[in-house]
Amino acid sequence: MKKHNYSAGPCILPQEVFQEASQAVLDFNNTGLSILEISHRSKEFVDVMEEARNLALELLGLEGKGYKALFLQGGASTQFLMVAYNLLQVKAGYLNTGAWSTKAIKEAKLFGDVAEVASSADKDFRYIPKGYFIPSDVDYFHCTSNNTIYGTQIKEFPNTPKPIVCDMSSDIFSRELDFSKFDLIYAGAQKNLGPAGTTLVVIKEDILGKVERSIPSMMDYKIHINKASMFNTPAVFAVYTSMLTLRWIKKNGGIAAMEERNEKKAALLYSEIDINPLFQGYADKKDRSTMNATFTLLNDDLKETFDTMWKEAGVNGLNGHRSVGGYRASMYNALPLESVQVLVDVMSELERKA
Ligand code: PMP
Repeated sequence: MKKHNYSAGPCILPQEVFQEASQAVLDFNNTGLSILEISHRSKEFVDVMEEARNLALELLGLEGKGYKALFLQGGASTQFLMVAYNLLQVKAGYLNTGAWSTKAIKEAKLFGDVAEVASSADKDFRYIPKGYFIPSDVDYFHCTSNNTIYGTQIKEFPNTPKPIVCDMSSDIFSRELDFSKFDLIYAGAQKNLGPAGTTLVVIKEDILGKVERSIPSMMDYKIHINKASMFNTPAVFAVYTSMLTLRWIKKNGGIAAMEERNEKKAALLYSEIDINPLFQGYADKKDRSTMNATFTLLNDDLKETFDTMWKEAGVNGLNGHRSVGGYRASMYNALPLESVQVLVDVMSELERKA
């Protein structure tokens, strides 16, 4: 039986994507070859890469606006340093909203000064700082749109004339935003997009070429753009599966439809967290993520019972990140509303039993 998969990433993908991807492992588009054995230079795969890049821009509403999409390797973690390598000449501004922002800051410091414009470390990253000031002498401003570990999400992005770089690893394609506000967006594929192994990078081309340092080829966005994201062998299977997911998003109404579903799922789960006296939400209500809901069980004595109950109901991946504890329900695009209902029913059943 298929599990109700709440894993934070790698995570659930649409069932039809799993089916199509597994078919392509056996025979890709009736070529008599597996997707795992075709050349990345074959016309069939070049078409996949082009479709994936174009669909990403189309769904984000960025076609014809000077942006390029790339599918790179090394995870979002490589983007922490690649961003700074390509954009940080003297100083950059970073908003610190958690462990991933902290890691991005650490890498950026290898290339120049970092001004931490605000941080929510004072309250264990339970909220998103607001009303902060972005210095006028920064080369760019960096933020993390959704904090996967703490379950917080930026609802309003700052206005600044400086380029905005955003780590959207855990909420890309989940909600409508004016994506043209951002100059560089990156996201590890393994949440709303595809399997682990590729990272989507969307760049406004005119922000490049402004730093003086020499950049090694694999770290250079310009080289990847000039080579149409094929400078070296790309993660063929991960890109193919991401392309299938992008097709699925488009076929199912695009980002607007994903957002509507995601809001319904989040509303259902958060209302149970709030009315059920056994549970408490981790993040500040106004900053709650629609992707990752974090919560704790107030009475430790009930933990064993609760854990047995949700596992028996077919729920998977509900344990919180090891640094926060408690529970985390990741409700990415592909998780159906019915899965959320199953979890909510278990939570209210626990209340009846307790
Ligand atoms: N940023 C965010 C917001 C994340 O959630 C993660 C990992 N889940 C990362 C960065 C790191 O991504 P990767 O493991 O692909 O390097």
